[in-house]
Amino acid sequence: MIIVKFGGTSVGSAAAIRATAEIVRGRVPRGPIVVVSALSGVTNILLSVAEQASAGKLILALQAVEGLRARHFAEAEALLGKTPAAAELCSEMSPLLDELASLAEALSILGHATPRSLDAIAATGEMLSCLLVVAAYAAAQLPAEIVESRDVMVTDATFATAEPQADAIAAAVREHIVPRVRAGRIPVIGGFVGATREGITTTLGRGGSDYTASLLGAAVGAEAIEIWTDVDGMLTADPRVVEGARVIESIRFDEASELASFGAKVLHPSTIAPAVRLGIPVYVYNTHNPSGTGTRITFDAPRRAVSAIAGKTPITMVKVRSSRMLLTPGFLRRVFEAFERHRASVDVVATSEVSVSVTLDHTERLDAILVELAALGDVSVERARGVVAIVGAGLADDSDAMARALAAIQGIPVHMLSLSATGINLTIIVDADQVRPAIRRLHAAFFHAAGTVGAGGGEAAGRAGR
Ligand code: ASP
Ligand code: MG
Repeated sequence: MIIVKFGGTSVGSAAAIRATAEIVRGRVPRGPIVVVSALSGVTNILLSVAEQASAGKLILALQAVEGLRARHFAEAEALLGKTPAAAELCSEMSPLLDELASLAEALSILGHATPRSLDAIAATGEMLSCLLVVAAYAAAQLPAEIVESRDVMVTDATFATAEPQADAIAAAVREHIVPRVRAGRIPVIGGFVGATREGITTTLGRGGSDYTASLLGAAVGAEAIEIWTDVDGMLTADPRVVEGARVIESIRFDEASELASFGAKVLHPSTIAPAVRLGIPVYVYNTHNPSGTGTRITFDAPRRAVSAIAGKTPITMVKVRSSRMLLTPGFLRRVFEAFERHRASVDVVATSEVSVSVTLDHTERLDAILVELAALGDVSVERARGVVAIVGAGLADDSDAMARALAAIQGIPVHMLSLSATGINLTIIVDADQVRPAIRRLHAAFFHAAGTVGAGGGEAAGRAGR
């Protein structure tokens, strides 16, 4: 069996849905199980419906619901034409939209939305997209059948970020999914959505469809999981920054996780962990370019010195200097406790005998943190900094690559440098306006010169970023 997951843009138009049908057709011999997201942008609209309704803007909320109705009906017609099948599809979608409108009315009376009601609303997107996809597959002569997510994705009651219950899911998968695949049918299930054992709708958190795919893959012991999206895979750099960014053919899970923390928004590796941990490879492919090589994510892809260059801006650097720190046990603990008390997540850290420097992505609580740090030493704050990261699992073992990295950014002032203990990421803090030039230079140093990419990277050469 193979899990084939389509993201919002892959189901966001009739043409895209038709493309997914052909992708699925090509996988019929492998026993595909299809997971779909809501149509692109729909989850955001649903959440804003809830927000508007609970803020008393019922008219706006109901207009948004009618906008969703119009969009889904238009897609039904674009898929099936003005046919009885299209009319039937619309009549299947209508009750979901009616219920959405009722929920909005209820929220506007209550004047607030609970996480539980938000989940009930957010889940509508995947329920609607499932109906569209199954109808389109039926029209394309594929034996697809809806499997209700709430019968399969059993979760706890932590609404908005519900915790899947692996044993219950495995049992439900044996009951609802495996027999269908064995009988030659193609289950189609909405991602992101689940339910408690009592049947109350939950969701797995934003981007949760990948998580659904991964959980199902783990439950059926899939041969592979395919995440179909609108980019060619994970890239050696952000293509908006580096023109020659290339698809990474094969990447390690830890490298992919590192890249995700730099906003490589292809997928969040934590969502695919349940499958990758079991040795199930996860592929990222582009629905709009189905013949691309894609990116394969596994735990044990070869260790390259450099797999990708990433960066982010702005970040803030905080330095604490203290002559008293010298050999004082507990100093670092006190520094980090200050951040912890304010729930500020520290990103990069570097220390010397008399100082500690950290970077923060978010600075909402910075003022309060600074007050606490001031008691520990001299504190300075440097805003408008940025991070450049050279990500590669073999980096620490390759002194030549390390030297090349530093040579590439010669002349760019470096404010902080950190090599993670696992050696997977060389992080360089520079001025925010130097991040792009640094990324370009590093990318050129590692990916443009012929023969400089280690095992596996070379084959991806020449593939354009998007
Ligand atoms: N539709 C949900 C979201 O936008 C889940 C997903 O697409 O993965 O977060
Ligand atoms: Mg998505």
